[in-house]
Amino acid sequence: MGSGAALIPMVKADAYGLGVERAIEALDPLDPWGWGVATVEEGEELRRLGVERPILVVAPIPPGSYDDAVRAGLTLCLSDLEALDRLAEAAARWPTMADVTFHVEVDTGIGRAGFAAGTVDAWGPEVARRHGRRLRWTGCFTHLHSADVDEASVVEQKQRFERVLERLELPGNGGPGDFLVHLANSAGALRLGERLGRAVRPGIHLYGGRSGPGLPRPEPVMSVRARVVLCREVPPGTTLGYGATYRARTAERWATLGIGYGDGLPRALGNVGHALLAGERVPIMGRMSMDVTVVNISELDGVGPGDVATLVGRDGMEEIELDEVAEQTGTIGYEILTGLGRRLPRIWMDDDEA
Ligand SMILES: *Cc1c(COP(=O)(O)O)cnc(C)c1O
Repeated sequence: MGSGAALIPMVKADAYGLGVERAIEALDPLDPWGWGVATVEEGEELRRLGVERPILVVAPIPPGSYDDAVRAGLTLCLSDLEALDRLAEAAARWPTMADVTFHVEVDTGIGRAGFAAGTVDAWGPEVARRHGRRLRWTGCFTHLHSADVDEASVVEQKQRFERVLERLELPGNGGPGDFLVHLANSAGALRLGERLGRAVRPGIHLYGGRSGPGLPRPEPVMSVRARVVLCREVPPGTTLGYGATYRARTAERWATLGIGYGDGLPRALGNVGHALLAGERVPIMGRMSMDVTVVNISELDGVGPGDVATLVGRDGMEEIELDEVAEQTGTIGYEILTGLGRRLPRIWMDDDEA
């Protein structure tokens, strides 16, 4: 992270699908500066869980959500002066609440949000003018668009961001105090090392997903597992699943696993993906169903109902990486994680049990 950089773990989307309550419990000993979420509702949920640290809402919010944000003591990230007006109005409606803080997002290329870097001289003085006792400007950041694959783009966005910072009259001149400048997501942090600024906003790296090809792989922290619910010997010609896209070539042994696309496992794994059983890799056959997936265990001995299959993670010497599943299904680890369904219980284990 670089020496002294403040940590803002991104726990949006239920901590990337893993479960926000246990995620913040696990991360809190790192003494993060605060937590990053995407919506006011996510911030409110953290407050309900008793979180007292700052909560940064990194995405723009709908016009009707500003009062809730002020009441929950959230730090909004603003992308235009209209948002600043709405926040000022909401702050005035709740005079007994603590001072209202906000960060400014600068668009250096992500395009989806942020004040435009190119027009800083138009909006910069306006933002500085609104900074006051009740409404406090406490941070400024930008978001990298290609840090996973493109080192040069990181350098370019960082330079663009620094040119904007030079034009801004930051409260306290960006010196010590509590003004926070940040730009790095996981991939950005891994690429920038010591040069990453006052704070860093890692997400995927905390949850065991790769940040990009060639970047250091994090320690895997999650697995997706399911029980074998049925084992059958089938004669040649037996068809399998919707569309009967698989047909037993010889006498085969099949195991039905109690997990399907209804649990968030991508349906595209049908006839493509694998599971681990008894430390061995076995192919997923036929189309996946909503609730069950069938694997070929003809090569395995001694597998029976109740055994645990691994769809993502390690079993003995074998491993199915999150990013392998993502690649096989044309997506990214983030989407697999955040797509895991509510029907799958999240079971948290200490290091030595996992
Ligand atoms: C989601 C998000 C991050 C975290 O990105 P990772 O690639 O998961 O590290 C950081 N900053 C912002 C603004 C985000 O929306």
